[in-house]
Amino acid sequence: MDVLSTTANNPSMFTGPGTNTYVVISAGRAAVIDPGPNSPDTVHRDHLANIVSLIGDASPVAVLVTHTHPDHAPAANPLGRQLSVPVYGFGPGPEFDPDFNLVDGEVVSVGESQIEAIHTPGHTPDHLCYRLGEVLFTGDHIMGGSTVIIEDAASYMDSLDRVRRLEMSRLYPGHGPVIEEPDEVIGAYIDHRRMREAQVVAALERGVGDIGGLVAEVYSDVDSSRHFAAAMQMRTMLTKLAADGLITWDPANADGEPIELIEGTSA
Ligand SMILES: [Zn+2]
Repeated sequence: MDVLSTTANNPSMFTGPGTNTYVVISAGRAAVIDPGPNSPDTVHRDHLANIVSLIGDASPVAVLVTHTHPDHAPAANPLGRQLSVPVYGFGPGPEFDPDFNLVDGEVVSVGESQIEAIHTPGHTPDHLCYRLGEVLFTGDHIMGGSTVIIEDAASYMDSLDRVRRLEMSRLYPGHGPVIEEPDEVIGAYIDHRRMREAQVVAALERGVGDIGGLVAEVYSDVDSSRHFAAAMQMRTMLTKLAADGLITWDPANADGEPIELIEGTSA
């Protein structure tokens, strides 16, 4: 069994060096994970050509997608058609329509290997990691060399715990380098989320009561060009703190009353 990879030429603030596409080869069969973005330009054509050359003389059997973000999924259907293989994912999204929807625990066979879907909501609700024996393809659940943007903080923490308990020996992330110390890196992710949450509570205790003020305090270490994304993350964290019963905040009325800690609670 071999894991090969190629990186799409789509580097950016959110994609690091670009999207990693993986090709799993087992007993003469091949599966592609996260073919990446789709565009009519040569960058996209070159990336698809690189994927096809990694497959080499193996017979392709599947294209798998971790989640439906535009840097991971849009090339999946075109590549599936080109290779005449089915496309798998959690469900449809923008520019993505899987032939088969995978649920947690479902398995796709590739030669003598089995790839198991692990549902890991948090970055997005539709996020899957793929387990292949001792290794895990983590998409944007865990990245090489940076933290990730999350849509749901409570499910994200649960999904980090879940992946940690798998005790994998290596992680293949959707962006950045391969992770050889999964437990250490996942532990650091969990610590990072707890630190951010404690920073939010501390700022609220000091009387900061609006999203702009909280972003300025909590993300003072983040370049201001990223404060739009930081404001999104702040709403995600506030939603979790409100669900935990720690703060007065209604996500549906985000620009309403000032945000306050509820009396008698402490972090
Ligand atoms: Zn993503």
